[in-house]
Amino acid sequence: MHAIDCDVHPTIPGMSALLPYLDPFWRESVVEREISSLESISYPVNAPITARPDWKNASGRAAVTADEIGATVFGRWGADAAILNCLYGVQLVFNEDMANAFARALNDYIVHEFLERDARLRASIVLPVQNVEMAVAELERCAADKRFVQVLLLAMGESPLGRRMYWPIYEAAQRHGLPIGIHAGSNYRNPVTSLGWPTYYAEDYAAQSLGFQSQVASLVCEGVFVKYPQLKVVLLESGVSWLPGFMWRLSKFWRGVRMETPWIDRSPFDIVRDHVRLTVQPYDGPDDLAAIEKSIDHFQSDDMLLFASDFPHWQFDGDETMPRGIPERLHRKIRVDNPLATYSRLAALAQPAGS
Ligand code: ZN
Repeated sequence: MHAIDCDVHPTIPGMSALLPYLDPFWRESVVEREISSLESISYPVNAPITARPDWKNASGRAAVTADEIGATVFGRWGADAAILNCLYGVQLVFNEDMANAFARALNDYIVHEFLERDARLRASIVLPVQNVEMAVAELERCAADKRFVQVLLLAMGESPLGRRMYWPIYEAAQRHGLPIGIHAGSNYRNPVTSLGWPTYYAEDYAAQSLGFQSQVASLVCEGVFVKYPQLKVVLLESGVSWLPGFMWRLSKFWRGVRMETPWIDRSPFDIVRDHVRLTVQPYDGPDDLAAIEKSIDHFQSDDMLLFASDFPHWQFDGDETMPRGIPERLHRKIRVDNPLATYSRLAALAQPAGS
């Protein structure tokens, strides 16, 4: 086995593609209301970062079909499997019933248009997180298909993800062996910075790491990993270098005020090393190779990084999918061993054929 690509983004052509997967009421609603597209506004269609120029097809988009993804991710880079994290904006709509209908249609679309067209593809379950009961029901419905290997949430939602209203999602995810994938992106219920709305897209994208920091702190401090000790959380497209510094800060202040969270019986950084993983693109480290190696050392763990190309997002040029400077001795772990240890449903991939 060569590699498992843990963050790949299929593009949905538009709401018309989901029509066959909607029930008659919602199909009619989409047509009558002329709802043509639910693009994730965290990744505007024409923003340079959304699709690398050399990966765009004649329509100006990339990763629209299983073949388009497979040609690069499997054919060119030699990955053995890839996890699809679909960012189509079903988690943005305000109507809970609509969100539920659209998430169901989207998950069914992913099955029929991607998973059934290439046996190397896996996917995350997109949850209608606007309503936790509906989210759990959708998780249960999709979990029956073992090609779904993860649950997908956004880095910035209505409330911090450690809050107890979300715990039924974690109970179901743990029971089915599904990690919680938290991907960069916002449903824009709150400003993307705690100071208020920034002006430019660069500010929005850079602020994602602040969202990830708050989510990690919330999950640890609220005791999610105490309640669900088998649960894994994967930070997707979060950047990497911010984590050790933030965990030192959180662990330091936890020591001083630990009486308010007595269920946290060890350093938050130790908890995070056991439960949290990060994909390696974009790697937001320094250019100096020795400095990158040092920044990796700051994790004090070789188990936390997972290989990902973030295809078709434009995070690197050429074919250098593994960020430069990551020590050779870690490549195999990052490409294969760590993903297999994180995604229990991928274990079958490591079995010899026929066993
Ligand atoms: Zn991504």
